[in-house]
Amino acid sequence: MGSPFAVEVSNVQCSFGGIRAIDGLSLRIAAGTVVGIVGANGAGKTTLIDMICGLVRPQHGTILVMGQNAAAAGPALRARIGVLPQETALYDEVSARQNLDFAASLYAVPRAAARIDEVLLLVGLLERQHDVVRTFSGGMQRRLAIARALLHDPPLLILDEPTVGVDLEARHQIWSHVRSLRAAGRTVVLTTNYLDEAEALCDRVAILRAGRLLAEDTPAALTARTGRCLEIECSPESSGVARETLERHKGVLRVESGDFGLRAYLGATVNPEDVVHDLRAVCTLAAFRTRSPDLAEVFRSLTTPQ
Ligand code: ATP
Repeated sequence: MGSPFAVEVSNVQCSFGGIRAIDGLSLRIAAGTVVGIVGANGAGKTTLIDMICGLVRPQHGTILVMGQNAAAAGPALRARIGVLPQETALYDEVSARQNLDFAASLYAVPRAAARIDEVLLLVGLLERQHDVVRTFSGGMQRRLAIARALLHDPPLLILDEPTVGVDLEARHQIWSHVRSLRAAGRTVVLTTNYLDEAEALCDRVAILRAGRLLAEDTPAALTARTGRCLEIECSPESSGVARETLERHKGVLRVESGDFGLRAYLGATVNPEDVVHDLRAVCTLAAFRTRSPDLAEVFRSLTTPQ
């Protein structure tokens, strides 16, 4: 039996001149899952993807893609990966279908005409197939680029910011394509700057900072790891002393100001009642409530130093 992992990154390091883009990173991506790579600008997401595609070689460590060393493998492995690059790079003076005809001949796709019909149908562009790409909206162009990445039916799809610059409807359509790919047993690795996208779409999320893996888990486990979010309503006069008390509390990971008062992110094992008790000893609280943080808040608390 083959490896259960579509991608295995082991202790990889990659520098450009003096810049260490990836710094001792290990990550395993199970076959048949959707995995999101998130991180601020410059965190190393594109470098990681380029290494998985075999376009950039790590100086240390190895990357196995479907069991083969990505740095040493040639076109045969690349033909088993579908890539949606950040720049869509379509030929915009010809039709959608002509773009796909050209890509199909490059990849020597068997039964090309039927396969092109299939992918156009999947991304909802069959009716616009003969229109010139220049006349397409940003979302339609993104969907056409996804169709092109799917054309040769690769088991591994790599989508670099699949929904950047598209409207809400196109975004949801792209999410539904990704879900149908997973249902068909494909592995999807995507980068995104939208944490709600990672939360809605991904089985697991890897958070990068400065080329290192900060955390990798299911969205639910990542939000549980951070503990509760405590929102405190207090008068402007009380907020200074309340903030100091929160910042001194060992179980408080991060404090933010809101219109209503203060928001504190608590460690997973901290009881919010204890924090409220400490606050009440120094100031009057108008109200307080606790809730689970969302993934964007978890990301901020993990990646932003206090
Ligand atoms: P973004 O969200 O802005 O696309 P990213 O997370 O994809 O960022 P990378 O593009 O992987 O980040 O860059 C990681 C670091 O490596 C950055 O400091 C970047 O300047 C540097 N870097 C990446 N590619 C090169 C290159 N070809 N030459 C020099 N430095 C590079």
